[in-house]
Amino acid sequence: MRITEKLTVKDSLVSFEVFPPKTDSAFDSIERSVRELAAFNPDFMSVTYGAGGGTSQYTVKIASLIKNKLDTTALAHLTCASTTKEQIADILESLKSNNIDNVLALRGDLPENFSSRSGNYYDYAYELVTEIKKYGYFDVGAACYPECHTECDSLEKDIENLKKKVDCGVDFLITQLFYDNDVFYSFIEKMRKKGVFVPVFAGIMPITNIKQIDRIISLSGTKIPDEVNAFLNKYSDNPESLHKAGLDFAVKQVNDLLKNGVQGVHIYTMNKPLTAETVLKGMPR
Ligand SMILES: Cc1cc2nc3c(=O)[nH]c(=O)nc-3n(C[C@H](O)[C@H](O)[C@H](O)COP(=O)(O)OP(=O)(O)OC[C@H]3O[C@@H](n4cnc5c(N)ncnc54)[C@H](O)[C@@H]3O)c2cc1C
Repeated sequence: MRITEKLTVKDSLVSFEVFPPKTDSAFDSIERSVRELAAFNPDFMSVTYGAGGGTSQYTVKIASLIKNKLDTTALAHLTCASTTKEQIADILESLKSNNIDNVLALRGDLPENFSSRSGNYYDYAYELVTEIKKYGYFDVGAACYPECHTECDSLEKDIENLKKKVDCGVDFLITQLFYDNDVFYSFIEKMRKKGVFVPVFAGIMPITNIKQIDRIISLSGTKIPDEVNAFLNKYSDNPESLHKAGLDFAVKQVNDLLKNGVQGVHIYTMNKPLTAETVLKGMPR
């Protein structure tokens, strides 16, 4: 089922993000996690795409497992920064032949030789969106950044670029993770003022360990609210309590978003069924 069809029957969707294996030998253990996650009956499950593009077959394989064996709506991520136009066309054909009709169109992080790239690549996600829409088969999602994309000088400019991308045919957006819901609400207001009206699903990454949150802060500069800082400090030497506090915070965050009419909650599960289960159990479903 297409994600836009799901939205016609439900006000708010719950989705899980998983990552595919990088090698054949890791496939079975990831398949087990994906099966456990699908058993919670999310509205859709998305499968990430390896930055360099070299493991794209696993994205298709896991998305196909979700759709064709686990009877769950699948959303395949696809990035264009390191994948040629020809390879993109092959992957889209492969998704189509596996009945996967939802794609998250992303640029991906830039390879080091970006400035010397030829016309063999789509340079921005909006070009990929335009290309995928030509098939007339896929629902197309895209990424957005409540705290501004790291390469853009200002949130205003980033939202202008987002509007151009959405106008190329984006059906829904999924946000970068955030921990301060006020940042999300303010972003939605700014987007709507600029004329971006497609559904937006809030990206939620439950904090489960210190290393993970340190990495997030260093990569994206995400704002960490006082409440989160307090439990990070309090439980810096107590991984179990930190894990519990992180999940409790995620539940609180999700419930506040639902109370305020969010159109979807997209949980970055890190392939951990317990994370998804805890957040789901805390939600009024
Ligand atoms: C929900 C979500 C899922 C993700 N999944 C993956 C994944 O599976 N694999 C992966 O490798 N990465 C993934 N990413 C990371 C993403 O690929 C990076 O953040 C990447 O740097 C930007 O991708 P984008 O699609 O947002 O790019 P774009 O929308 O192309 O934007 C990139 C930058 O270019 C600017 N820009 C856009 N259009 C224009 C224009 N017309 N002129 C000038 N500037 C412009 C934007 O403001 C922004 O700064 C994901 C991110 C999110 C939020």
